[in-house]
Amino acid sequence: MRVVPLISAGYDSNAYVLLAERVAVIDTGLSAESMRSRLAGVVQPEDVEVVVNTHAHIDHCGGNGAFANARVMLHELDAEAAESGSFYGTASLFGTGSAWKPERLLREGMKIELGDAELEVIHTPGHTPGSICLYLREERALFSGDTLFAGGSFGRTDLEGGNMRQLVESLRRIAELEIEVLYPGHLEVVEGEEARECVEVACEAAERFI
Ligand SMILES: [Zn+2]
Repeated sequence: MRVVPLISAGYDSNAYVLLAERVAVIDTGLSAESMRSRLAGVVQPEDVEVVVNTHAHIDHCGGNGAFANARVMLHELDAEAAESGSFYGTASLFGTGSAWKPERLLREGMKIELGDAELEVIHTPGHTPGSICLYLREERALFSGDTLFAGGSFGRTDLEGGNMRQLVESLRRIAELEIEVLYPGHLEVVEGEEARECVEVACEAAERFI
């Protein structure tokens, strides 16, 4: 298994390609067109079997349509935002997005099997009610969506469905994990000591808001 980060320079979220026995993509950016061009030279979109969205903001799931053969997974608490096409107000914020329906609804503790890798679902509400982080325990790697970023910054909670108190609790949960690599939803990937530090910094900083 190998993780290929597709780091975004613009409004798109980062996307992560997991080249496992079953190829998976975590988050898909704003549009299918942009997603397809970002995948060039990494994987054919039709070879992707699993798409997981860390939450139902349109900059993280707007590119799902690039994957004709994938089973799309989202936390159950964010399903309504995707099915209604509101995406917690981010469809109007970004001026794009059409409704879609997840094929597998995720909950805390569920496992996503990829053959030679397994993702654990950690429910981390706050940025949205159904935000999740995905943990590759063997690699001590955490895909943190918009819950936690490099440098100890964290996702906004002022959009529809956001909740600062929940976000603080979610950051505290993440702080209990062993993290060697942090793959956030925006900005750069962080490794080693720096990754552990950014969890602590985020916890401290977020606690000041409640
Ligand atoms: Zn978001």
